[in-house]
Order: sequence, then C-alpha cells, then structure tokens
Amino acid sequence: MLIAGNWKMFKGPRETREFVRAFAKPDGVDAVVCPPYVSLAAALEGPVPVYAQNVHWDAEGAFTGEVSARMLLELGVAGAIVGHSERRQHFGETDETVARRTAAALDAGLAVIACVGELEAEREEGRTEDVLRRQVSMLDRHERLVIAYEPVWAIGTGKTATPEQAQEAHALIKSLVDVPVLYGGSVKPENAQELLSQPDVDGALVGGASLDPESFATLCRIGASLS
Ligand code: PEP
Repeated sequence: MLIAGNWKMFKGPRETREFVRAFAKPDGVDAVVCPPYVSLAAALEGPVPVYAQNVHWDAEGAFTGEVSARMLLELGVAGAIVGHSERRQHFGETDETVARRTAAALDAGLAVIACVGELEAEREEGRTEDVLRRQVSMLDRHERLVIAYEPVWAIGTGKTATPEQAQEAHALIKSLVDVPVLYGGSVKPENAQELLSQPDVDGALVGGASLDPESFATLCRIGASLS
C-alpha cells in the first residue's frame, strides 16, 4: 500500500521542513511526498522518500524550466509523478510526452507514478474505457512503475469516484499493464477507507489532504490498517 502526497505548488522550503518534522509515518505502509522542486532538498532532510512532480526525458540540454532524472537522483530524489492532469490541462502534456518522460525516468533509475484519467465529459459520453486504454497503452510494465488513476473531474473538486467506479477503472488498467494502481481524486480521511479497501486499489495519490501532516498521517494509518 502506497500513499503519495502531491503538494502541487504549495510549501516552500520552510513549510516543507515544518511538515517533515511533524509527520510521523505509521509502520506497515509506504509513504512518499512530492514537493515543488525548490523544496525537494528540504524534504530530503526528513525520513520520508521524496518524489518530484515532473521530470524531463533528456539528461541535460536546452530545455528551460525542466529538470532531468539524473539531477533528481543526484539530489537523492527517489521518483517522480509524470503526466498529472494539471500538466496535461495547463502545460500541454500529451500521451507522447508522458510516455517519453516515464520511459527515461525509469531507465535512469527513478520510480514513476504515471497519471491517467478521463475528463468529466469523456465519462458522460461513455468514453472512459477508451481514454484509459489509449493513455495506458503508452506505458510499459516496469518494476518501478506505478499508475495513478485520477478521474480529472475528481481532482481538487471535492467530487470522488464511487468505490465501484474506482474499482472498475483499476481492474481495467491492471488488465492492460500489471503494475500497482493508486486512486487519486479528493481522497481524504473520511473517504479513504472505502476507496482503499477495493481489491484493485493499491494506494492513493493525494493532493489537498496531503498538505497537513496530521491528515496525511491519518491516511497512512488507514492504508496500513488495510495492508
Ligand atoms: C492530485 O493532486 O493528484 C489530487 C488527486 O488532488 P486532490 O486530492 O486535491 O483531489
């Protein structure tokens, strides 16, 4: 069971140090935090593994604003999120760039949480399965690859997939590529138990509720109790 905290564009180094001092990871669950780039070093002062929120496919080069897997590994970062829907929606990330970033990061030695998920309109039009098949077809099985199923309509909206919707999507994803699949989309202490107890839900990628060390610890405790 893996509980990953995606901090998005929250917490500079000072708040990051406060978090890692306050957060006590329960036994029996894996937890990682994914701070903004400028806070990675501060997060690494604590005991919890640290992932970045993105990673470029080249080792170095003329790619202003990007960071490579080699650089992250040099710092001590263990993995990266790739293809988060906020990057797909606002920064032009495509299935192709997600695939390139994922493959390069895995080759270099990072772990990857690759995000997939349908838009609200796609679900309403009955296209969820097609979208997931297309997105997942770009990803190859790897021992350090984890997929996060994040229905876009449930991210940061307070709307959550029902446990049945999550289970159905996770079962489909696992039938396409045999890797652990995390659920993401407004996971919080109140709904984590029923989502995480679905048979094909192997953990959670958590945004808002990962920012507070107490609430993140509660989510980890729920995960540990189901492991
Ligand atoms: C996320 O950022 O991946 C996410 C799922 O956010 P939230 O938990 O806030 O919906």
